[in-house]
Amino acid sequence: RIRARAAQAELPAEPGRLADGTPLPLLANLGDVAGAAPAVARGAEGVGLFRTEFLFLDSTTAPTVADQRASYTALLEAFPGKKVVVRLLDAGADKPLPFLNDAHEENPAMGLRGLRALRASENLLRDQLTALAEADAATSADLWVMAPMVSTVEETVYFVTIAAEYGIRTAGVMVEVPSAALLADRILPHAAFASIGTNDLTQYTLAADRQLGSVAAFQSPWHPAVLRLIQEVARAGESTGKPVGVCGEAAADPLLAIVLAGLGVTSLSMSPAALADVRASLLTVTLDEARTIAESALAADEAADAKTAALAAATRIT
Ligand code: PEP
Ligand code: MG
Repeated sequence: RIRARAAQAELPAEPGRLADGTPLPLLANLGDVAGAAPAVARGAEGVGLFRTEFLFLDSTTAPTVADQRASYTALLEAFPGKKVVVRLLDAGADKPLPFLNDAHEENPAMGLRGLRALRASENLLRDQLTALAEADAATSADLWVMAPMVSTVEETVYFVTIAAEYGIRTAGVMVEVPSAALLADRILPHAAFASIGTNDLTQYTLAADRQLGSVAAFQSPWHPAVLRLIQEVARAGESTGKPVGVCGEAAADPLLAIVLAGLGVTSLSMSPAALADVRASLLTVTLDEARTIAESALAADEAADAKTAALAAATRIT
């Protein structure tokens, strides 16, 4: 039996799905190209978040198109025929890039970061889109490109329009600011997809700095206010026919992954080490059951109570 199990361990992992067969693709969060092969080995069905700023955290000068093209080509080559969601440089706040963030800001999390910073240095944005388009043309992965820290409809239209200039059609937005979640039904008609960044969405919804230990108790994606916003975005995805994934840490929590499925999210992206547990957890419930579990979490007043309620509902069901 041990030998049979060993053989099983070598089989490629099954795609993510619920007990009733509802597919829920499980993707990897990556910050470098070296992480690609281990992610494939763990059964990642593609990449849901490639954090491009991690490539350049130590650079004092802006990366060239050639440098970027080499990195993106190597990444895409690791996922032939698979979805790879690349996020444009998310510079600022917890991830300052010396060549992009030079002004001192009192409140960098609410400052010129993400798409706002790229827009202020549009040449850099254009270089990144050029490199991505060239890497896309040279490889067979299914490239999706998303902008970080989008907070308005206007920013969505700006990004999708400029991406189209470079032939990038699958251009989407990260939803990690409450304004974008609340207006998801107006944003999604303009975008090809949305990906919910629960780390920042929690930070901004609870007004609790994600880097500040003294307010860490507020930093829970289980908070019903965060869950409600996620539900809002998922509903907008359903009504507009656009995919809505989650790529924040929330997706790596096996019980919260069930709640996210129940809220209507269509893919989950996480650090590759979390893939196996999330895959196993999703297989224990049908979509209807996941909805019931999500409802019980939404009905709570506090993050801790939402988790307890979800656990109790899941225990009753499974
Ligand atoms: C997030 O905010 O949830 C996210 C995925 O992006 P990052 O953690 O890189 O800000
Ligand atoms: Mg973020």
